[in-house]
Amino acid sequence: MTIVTTIREMKAALRPLKRDGRTIGFVPTMGFLHDGHLGLVRACRNATDITVVSIFVNPLQFGPREDFKEYPRDPERDLRLLEGEGVDFVFQPEASEMYPPGFRTAVEVSGLQDVLCGRSRPGHFRGVATVVLKLFNIVQPDVAFFGQKDAQQAVILQRMVEDMNLDIDVRVLPIVREPDGLAMSSRNVYLSRDERRAALVLFRSLEEARRMFAGGERRAGVIIARIKEIIGAEPLARLDYAEIVDRKNLEPVDLITRDALVALAVYIGRTRLIDNTILSPGGTDNETHPA
Ligand code: AMP
Repeated sequence: MTIVTTIREMKAALRPLKRDGRTIGFVPTMGFLHDGHLGLVRACRNATDITVVSIFVNPLQFGPREDFKEYPRDPERDLRLLEGEGVDFVFQPEASEMYPPGFRTAVEVSGLQDVLCGRSRPGHFRGVATVVLKLFNIVQPDVAFFGQKDAQQAVILQRMVEDMNLDIDVRVLPIVREPDGLAMSSRNVYLSRDERRAALVLFRSLEEARRMFAGGERRAGVIIARIKEIIGAEPLARLDYAEIVDRKNLEPVDLITRDALVALAVYIGRTRLIDNTILSPGGTDNETHPA
């Protein structure tokens, strides 16, 4: 496994491999890796000849009062895990490499970036789209892997790839959960014992939404009201938002007649967690259930 820290070296290392016709797979991360990330890495290894993983805590996607400084980091452990997965390249640039003095450009995916998480995190998706387009240009992958955990991010990046005519196959993999249902997240380490227990309220409310939907309920408002009731009953939880939107264009939905995304953001103490599920009238179910 080769660890690369500069853009020039990364491009130079991949150039001959591409020339030889090898396919390049790419998994962008912010590190502090868990099984959600490693699932993407394994899928990438299976699908392509060369696997590139980036580890970069992107300052551009954090607001001034957000957790950029505290964001958990453990590069040595990350590298050990990636080595164990048979990754070929880890791209681990400094912020100054990605954003040298004079950097001015940003990518906006208007509309999609302003709803759901974009409402409470203004500028977040501009930062995400900008760094991912840079990483795409540096790595020039054939295939890139993202998690459904960040459902809005996946929709935005798919839109960007299409709008900007990038020849990249974007694949989105199901949410990986802890055995009790909590969606894996690097931020789960912030939770105290009581908060860890309270954090299950996200999964429980999504399960209730799925149960109502399976029982024939199609009115988004009724399902959302029940989700809010469940979250409201957990003293350590404070709702940021709970919404049901069209899976593809993220527009609000009243009656669920096409695949709909139930998306949640909830503060557990000071930690903001997100989770989601798809309600599918067609019956295709892409949710991974815990054992
Ligand atoms: P992050 O390091 O949080 O930026 O995440 C890197 C990638 O891993 C993103 O595509 C995330 O959607 C994905 N990811 C994070 N957590 C999970 C999870 N629990 N299940 C599946 N994918 C995940």
